[in-house]
Amino acid sequence: MAYKQMVPAGAHRLPPLPYPYSALEPVIGSLSLRVHHDVLHKNYVDALNKTELSLVKARRQNDFENIQQLERELAYNGSGDILHSIYWTIMSPLGTGGQPGPLTMQYINSYFGSFEAFKDQFTQAAAKVMASGWALMVWQPMWNRLEILTAEKHQDLTQWGVIPILVVDVWEHAYYLNYLYKRKEYVENWWNIVNWFEVERRLKLAIAGRLPLFTGMAPMNC
Ligand code: MN
Repeated sequence: MAYKQMVPAGAHRLPPLPYPYSALEPVIGSLSLRVHHDVLHKNYVDALNKTELSLVKARRQNDFENIQQLERELAYNGSGDILHSIYWTIMSPLGTGGQPGPLTMQYINSYFGSFEAFKDQFTQAAAKVMASGWALMVWQPMWNRLEILTAEKHQDLTQWGVIPILVVDVWEHAYYLNYLYKRKEYVENWWNIVNWFEVERRLKLAIAGRLPLFTGMAPMNC
């Protein structure tokens, strides 16, 4: 697999959803998915582009008056774009996601003890993220193992160098229309639409050091 070419400053584009808006029902409804992808994810892409172009201008003019805010925007919007781009690909219509693959199971079992222990920690961590954020199963190449991390907003509370493999958005906008305030219920239902084929593929590439952060859309029939 070849690495993609450099994405120039300001050239990020909203990736298309790899399935119709209704594909994740009843776990995630059409309206929720449409707004989440077409409006909210797009806002992050637009803001990321705007920030990068402002930085191009700042460098050209040697004017770093707003550098503190621009760096904050870069982390927030860049991480927002990356995590949403992954989130769409690691879900698939109910009944099509298969079971955790052999490599996924092997690495989960060897570190977390069992799939149930992993799933329980992930679900609890996701349910208890303070305010808005994510729960992530990441590959930590420094230590050759998986880890469960959470993010507040999109960018806070990480270990450097990790590669997100499986991510769940627990901002209210991800579940409020379908679950109101019941975030844990959303996460428990979300397990049923995880695309384990894509998770296995991502983990394999991450371990091989061949997974760019943005990997494009997953094939639908994998
Ligand atoms: Mn979101």
